[in-house]
Order: sequence, then C-alpha cells, then structure tokens
Amino acid sequence: MRSFDIIAFDADDTLWHSEDRFTAGELRFVDLVAPYAPEGIDVRAALTAVERKNLSVLGYGVKAFGLSAVEAAISITDGTVPIEVIAQLMEMIRAHLTEPVRLLSNVSEVLTLVGRHYPLALITKGDLVHQTHKVQTSGLAHHFDHVEILLEKDPGTYARVFARMGVDPTRVCMVGNSVRSDILPVMALGGTAVHVPYPLLWELEHIEHDEHFADLASIADLPAWLTLP
Ligand SMILES: [Mg+2]
Repeated sequence: MRSFDIIAFDADDTLWHSEDRFTAGELRFVDLVAPYAPEGIDVRAALTAVERKNLSVLGYGVKAFGLSAVEAAISITDGTVPIEVIAQLMEMIRAHLTEPVRLLSNVSEVLTLVGRHYPLALITKGDLVHQTHKVQTSGLAHHFDHVEILLEKDPGTYARVFARMGVDPTRVCMVGNSVRSDILPVMALGGTAVHVPYPLLWELEHIEHDEHFADLASIADLPAWLTLP
C-alpha cells in the first residue's frame, strides 16, 4: 500500500458534478442576452472576459458567476438589456445555488474504502455559503477528518492548510480534477497528486505545464492506484 499521512480530495468535479451546470448557465446567458447584443459579438467570450477581470475581486463560485453575468449583460448590450432578462439571470443563479448535490459515480464507495486506511480531507475553493451547504448536504461529510473551503488554491494556501492539519506536505496525496488548482500547487510543496479529469474544464482553469503525475480515468481507479489490500 502506498504510504501517505492523509489523502485529500478536491470536491467540485472530483466528488460531485459542477462544471456542467456552469456550462449550462453560460449557454442560457447567451440565449438570454444575444438578442440584445450588437451583431457579431461573441457573447459567451465576452462573459468569460468579465469573469476573468472580476476573479481577483469576486473570487470563485456561483455568486461570482452571477455578478459577472449581470455585469456582462449590461455592458455587452450597452445598457439596453431589459430588466426581465436580469430577473431571469437572477432566477438562474438562485436555482443553481439551491439545486441538490449530484455525486459522481463510485464516490461514496471509494471514500469508504480509502477511509479505512488513511485519514481523509476535503479541500475545495469558492463561495463559503454554497460550498458549506454542498458539503453538509452531500452525505459525504462523515468521511472527512478535515474540511477546508479556501479562497484560492495556490502553494501558500495549501502550505497553511497542511500546517493547520499538522501534516507534512510531502506526506500528502491530493486527488482532483484541476491540474492548475489541485495538482501543480501540491506538487510544488513536494506532495503527491493524482489527476482525475472531469469531461469539462472551466476556461480559467486551463494551464500549460510539463509536470508528470498519475492520471486516472475515474475515481474508481484510486483504490487500485493506492494498492489497498
Ligand atoms: Mg474541482
């Protein structure tokens, strides 16, 4: 069995679906706003540009997406977007924030198996209210010895989190779907990372790199990778 002091998991698109809902929100935004946008403008790309501009101010998550969507709807249409469209965007964001967690396949079984041999942590980033609600309603919270909801996932933040847990970063294995947020910053601290891609990746999570790490097709492959007895 591979030797680690803790196995840490990302949550969005690692334990439960997330990005598919954001993609649906972007497409709905295009449907709602494009009729009022100038001819030839790429409405979806304009929304992403506003999200990128706002990242340092709004952070990650659904509320940040919603504020950027409203701002983009106003700016793309030069202020001519009807208030009904803004109301529909707000309704869309409310529905997104209150929808039930949809677990990915095999997640409960894998956490049960892995949790028999290692302490487990959940490390996610985004909006505190929404992420807390998702953890609490996921039915998974009892698997984790530590739950951390972060503003950003960079090496400095991970170092503080691991120090708080009392674990040496070189003894951590982090499992996640985002190379930028889950893999590279943990490897930068000397830890081990296992990449389990989700079919969709948010444009602002894309990153170029030449690191080598384990890449699993599914979280169901994790127990075998850990060589659990
Ligand atoms: Mg993720």
